[in-house]
Amino acid sequence: MNGRLHRWSFRKFQSIIEYKAKLKGVKVVFADPAFTSSLCPVCGAKLSPNGHRVLKCKCGFEADRDVVGSWNISLRALEMWGVTIPPRKPADEQRVEGYSP
Ligand SMILES: [Zn+2]
Repeated sequence: MNGRLHRWSFRKFQSIIEYKAKLKGVKVVFADPAFTSSLCPVCGAKLSPNGHRVLKCKCGFEADRDVVGSWNISLRALEMWGVTIPPRKPADEQRVEGYSP
């Protein structure tokens, strides 16, 4: 199955997901993936590498780059659906308020 997925083009894979979602009545939105793997999903600051695939933020957030990317894409999709997300605060402000990850 994994080998078959890799042979598909991303567009074809996207079309199949859209088709299956419509059959189940699930709404599909397409989020812009730009910078989703380089910005902190907690505070919005730029992340820096901290190991092979791990990214770290000055606010203390740390995660695998794929987790960061999927987290940010889900946040963008929720915003596109109109879900209210608490506004991000600068990392320094969170530190002052006693934020500890
Ligand atoms: Zn952060």
